[in-house]
Amino acid sequence: MRSTGKLHLGNYVGALQNWVGMQDTYECYFFIADWHALTTDYADTSQVKRNSVEVLLDWLAAGLSPERSTMFIQSHVPQHAELHLLLSMITPLGWLERVPTYKEQQENITGKDLSTYGFLGYPVLMSADIMMYKGDFVPVGEDQVPHVELTREIARRFNQFYKFRGQAVFPEPQALLTPEPKLPGTDGRKMSKSYGNTIMLTDPEPVVRQKLKTMVTDPARVRRTDPGNPDVCPVGDLHKIFSDKEINDKVNLGCRSAGIGCIECKGWAADSLVKILNPMQQRRKKYEDNPRLAWDILEAGSAKARQVASSTMSEVREAMSMSLNYEGDGRT
Ligand code: SF4
Repeated sequence: MRSTGKLHLGNYVGALQNWVGMQDTYECYFFIADWHALTTDYADTSQVKRNSVEVLLDWLAAGLSPERSTMFIQSHVPQHAELHLLLSMITPLGWLERVPTYKEQQENITGKDLSTYGFLGYPVLMSADIMMYKGDFVPVGEDQVPHVELTREIARRFNQFYKFRGQAVFPEPQALLTPEPKLPGTDGRKMSKSYGNTIMLTDPEPVVRQKLKTMVTDPARVRRTDPGNPDVCPVGDLHKIFSDKEINDKVNLGCRSAGIGCIECKGWAADSLVKILNPMQQRRKKYEDNPRLAWDILEAGSAKARQVASSTMSEVREAMSMSLNYEGDGRT
C-alpha cells in the first residue's frame, strides 16, 4: 500500500479487511510503498515518513498483527532497488507502455509531470517487490491484475536467462483476487481522497454522523412520501457492506414503501459504521499514545524483510555471475 497517510473506508473494504483475514491462512508480507509514492509525488517528500506511520497505525487498528505478519517499509529494504535495477535490464519497453494504468494515470493525474523514468518503470519496481519474497500469491483487485501478469512475464524471462545452481530463482506469482465491494463516497462517486468524499477510519462518531447526513441518496426520493430503491442509493450500498441482515431488511422494506425517511436510514448506517470504527479507533489510540511502538514494529518487520531479501539477492547475484564470493580469476 502506498504511503498516502490516513486510510479511509474504501481502503479498508478494498484491501485491508481482506488482508486481516488472510493472516491466518498465508505467510504474509505487507509493506508500505514509500518509493512508489514518489513515482507521482516526487516534488515534495516532506510528508512521506509521517504518511507511512499513519498507514501503519491504520493497519494495526484494522487488525494486522506483527505476531502473524511481516510489516515493513519499502525504502528500509534497499535490496528492492537492486532487484528493480536488474529487472529493468531485461524488461522490454513495450511491456511497460502497455500497462493499462500507465496511460490512464498520465491522462487522469493533472498538474504533475509524469513523463518520468520512475513513473514508467514503477511496475518493474512492483515486480521486484513481489519477486523478492518469492510470493506465490498477490492479493489484488481487478485493476491490479495486469501488474501481476507483468510480474509473471518478468519472472519467466529472468528464469529463462539465468539459473541458480541449475534451478529457476523465481516462482511465477498468481493474482489472488480479493472481493471489492462497491463503496461509494459521500457524493456517490467511488470513495477517494482526491474527490474529498471519504469517511476516514479515524473519523470520530460525530464526524461520521455529520458526513452521513450530507450523503447523497436515491434521487427519486425527492419528498418523504416518494418510494426509493436502496440498490441505486449510496447509503443503501453502505448498508449492504456494513449493516446486518435485520437492518438491511428494514431498509429494503422501508425505502421501497416510503415507510422510513432518509434521515432515519442514514442514522442506522452511521450506527453500523460506528460499530466497526470504534474498536479500530481504540486499538489505534494505543499506538498513537506511543508512536515509538509503531515505529519499532516497522523496524522489526523491515529487519526480517531485509534478511529474506538478502538471501534472494544472493541467489540472483550468483545466477547472474555477480556474486560477492571470490571465484578465482573469473575463468572458473
Ligand atoms: S431510505 Fe435509505 S436507501 Fe432509501 S433512498 Fe433514503 S437513504 Fe437511500
